[in-house]
Order: sequence, then C-alpha cells, then structure tokens
Amino acid sequence: MLRFRAAILTAKLAIVILRLFRSGGTSLPGKLAQRLYPQILDHLSGLFRITMITGTNGKTTTSRIVASMMEQKGLKVVANKSGANLASGITTTLISALTPGGRPRVTHALLETDEAAFRTMAPRLKPETVIVTNFFRDQLDRFGELHTTVNNVREGIAKIPGAVLILNADDSLCASLGRNVPNRVIYFGMKEGVYPEGNASINSDAAFCIQCKSRYEYSSVTFGHLGHFICPSCGYGRPHTHVECTGILSYDNLGSTIEVSGPDMDITVKLALPGLYNIYNALAGASFGLALGLDGNGITAALTGFECGFGRMETVHINDRELKMILVKNPTGFNQVLRYLLTQEEPCVTAFAINDRLADGTDISWLWDVDFEILALMDDRIRAYYVSGIRAEDMAVRLKYAGISPDRVILEKDYHQLIQKALQKTGAGETFYILPTYTAMLDIRKILKKRFGLKEFWQ
Ligand SMILES: [Zn+2]
Repeated sequence: MLRFRAAILTAKLAIVILRLFRSGGTSLPGKLAQRLYPQILDHLSGLFRITMITGTNGKTTTSRIVASMMEQKGLKVVANKSGANLASGITTTLISALTPGGRPRVTHALLETDEAAFRTMAPRLKPETVIVTNFFRDQLDRFGELHTTVNNVREGIAKIPGAVLILNADDSLCASLGRNVPNRVIYFGMKEGVYPEGNASINSDAAFCIQCKSRYEYSSVTFGHLGHFICPSCGYGRPHTHVECTGILSYDNLGSTIEVSGPDMDITVKLALPGLYNIYNALAGASFGLALGLDGNGITAALTGFECGFGRMETVHINDRELKMILVKNPTGFNQVLRYLLTQEEPCVTAFAINDRLADGTDISWLWDVDFEILALMDDRIRAYYVSGIRAEDMAVRLKYAGISPDRVILEKDYHQLIQKALQKTGAGETFYILPTYTAMLDIRKILKKRFGLKEFWQ
C-alpha cells in the first residue's frame, strides 16, 4: 500500500511538472509509477469500471461517442487520449483520476487500446465491456498477417469471459470474435442494401473464410470488406444484429441522417459526422448506450450534435475561405476521405502531404491501394492538386497513373508556401483540403497553430 501511495504521488508530481512545461507527453508519469510499483496497473484497474475500445479504425471517435453516452447516463468517466494507449499511458490516465490519497474521483474509465496490446492489457484491466470497431490492413502491418492481429484480440477476450462484447457484425473478422465464447455479445451493423453505392474492394486477407478459407459471398457491401457475407462451404456468415442502421435518409459532406433500430428502440438521428465509417462508430456507441440502459431518447441525445474528433478533420476559417485538414493513414480511411470529397459540390483545392517516417509507415506502396481513380468524377471541380511531404514525387506519380493530367499537379514541399499558394487558388466561400499522413499532419499543424491560432492537439 505504501508503494502504491508513493507511486501515485510520484506520477502526480510528474503530471504537474509536465503540464508546467506544456508537454503533451503522457507516458512518463505512468512509467515512473510502474518502476516504483510494477503491479500498479492491476491495482488501479480494480478501482474503476472499465470499458476498452480496440480495432483498426474509429477508436477515437467511438470513444468520444461512448463518453457522450456515459455523460447522458450521469456517469463520471476518465478517458485516455489517443496515442496514450499502451500500459504506461493508461497508467497515467488512471492515476490522473485519483485523489492524492489514491481514491478514484470517477467511477468509470474508457480506454482505447492498440489491437496488438489488447492481448496483454485485457486480463490486466478486466473490462466490463469491450468494443471492437473493425479490422483493416493498416499500412504499418502491411506485411503482417491480419489474422494475427485478430487472434491477438481473440486471446485477450478468452481471458475476460465476464465482459460484454460489442462487435461489428458486418466485419467477418470482427464478428468471428463472438463465436463460441461464453461472453454476452451485442452485434451492430447495416441492414442489407441500406447503402446501394457500395462496391466490393475486398483485400486478400479478409476475402476468405476465417474458419475454412473458402471465398466469402456477399449479398451487400458497404465499404472495404464490410457487408453481408456468407461462407458457401461452412456456412459462417454475418450474425444477426441487435442494433442496426435500417435507413440512411440523407448523406452529405456534413454528416447523415440515419434510422437505427434495436430492442425497444426505433430512432432517427442526425449525425454531424461525415462518412459511412462514422455511421458504424455511431452504431457501436448506440449499442453501448443500450447496454448501459439508456432508452432511445437518451441515445438520440448522446449522438446528436456530435462533432468530428481531432486529427480526423479540423477546420480553420481564413478570410472567406476554409482550410480543412483530414488525416489519412491507410487505404480504407483514405478511400473514405476521397468519397467524402466527392459529396462536395463547390469547387475546391486539394493537397496531399505524404511522409514515410516511422509513424507514417515507411513503405508508401499503400498509396497504390487507394482509389485515386475516383477523383476523375470530380476533376472539373478541383482547381488544383498539390503534392507535398517527403514523398511528394511518388504521390505525383500515383495521381498521374490515376488519370490526372500532370499539368494540374503542383509540387510544393515547403508547407508555408503550400498553404499560401493553395489559399490563393481557393475562391471565396470555397475550401482548401489538406490530406496529410501522420507526421506531415504534425508539421502542418505547427504552422496552422502559429499563423491561424489552431488549438493544441491535446487540449
Ligand atoms: Zn467457411
């Protein structure tokens, strides 16, 4: 107990000092605490009712929607910031929610966790609820095996038989986690044919049955490998959902209006989050709300008026123009962003800022998995294509092969120049879209912050 107290006080001191220096570092206090008391995380997890969120895409947005559900229920919750999802970061988060005497100030904790770390973190954190958003091939594990990632999560789940699982029914990989387990499972998904424009671009990892390796058949696809799948050999198919999107009444660049059905629930919700992927995030959040005991009104209130999470899309108003920055980190996310651009009716200027540092993924061949070809559908509305970042030339080549005329593509590696020139090309009332990879986003953010007062990342 003495070691616990000492570890807590040390970490709290570190948190205060880091704040004084306005550092965003979130793992150091946790690391110090772990050094003083190696079992601290196991001890801390007993003090909170924990929900874990894992999966490739949508963790941060889903986490924010779930937090909104908890607030709607009147619960007090602490949540980890994106990027602080390993043991040390989670330790810091939980300690920050304790009094100096070591008592929890909130009852619930909401923890985003890496798919790779989930296997070891789940048995230590002993969550009541686990949400798995989806599994996609990230560029970072391009040469890794997607099934290994899924099985890591499966192993973690095997150690927490009491946890409620909230799973994406339309993702054959994610849905398989609910098979043959003692856990209570809540499945969410889209009703068949609810999004008629979807077309299959199913990557090789997810195209084949997780049980018997036969190729799945689809009666409906939303995006990527998500949809109504069935294995013709062994019969493994999309499970019956408890929470389902039964209609998309409107869909544009600002968001969508959707109908959601569940047990004793039929609601129509206006979502201020663009993109089909955010409808899945909303369904995950609604499933959590139901498990929490919220009724349709409570769930509607929690979902309505919800804005985009940081890093996903940020808007800066500059004179009469808008600059929107949208992070791109893998082909699936990139395709969603391009599809979102397609819903734009006004002319615009676009810039792709592609880096290949470690945090971006050093192998940029993933750009060839992005459907830049669809830009042809809006080519007349794009005033200019800028390419930037360390791999600007590669991006220019990719656009050329996508059928974009090379004289429309402008190479500008200096971000100051990029922003200035692109804004000059952007007409009044129009938007300049910057699509950066992770480290390019960090660099561009610094400039936007200095020049236009964009808010700090972690505030
Ligand atoms: Zn099969």
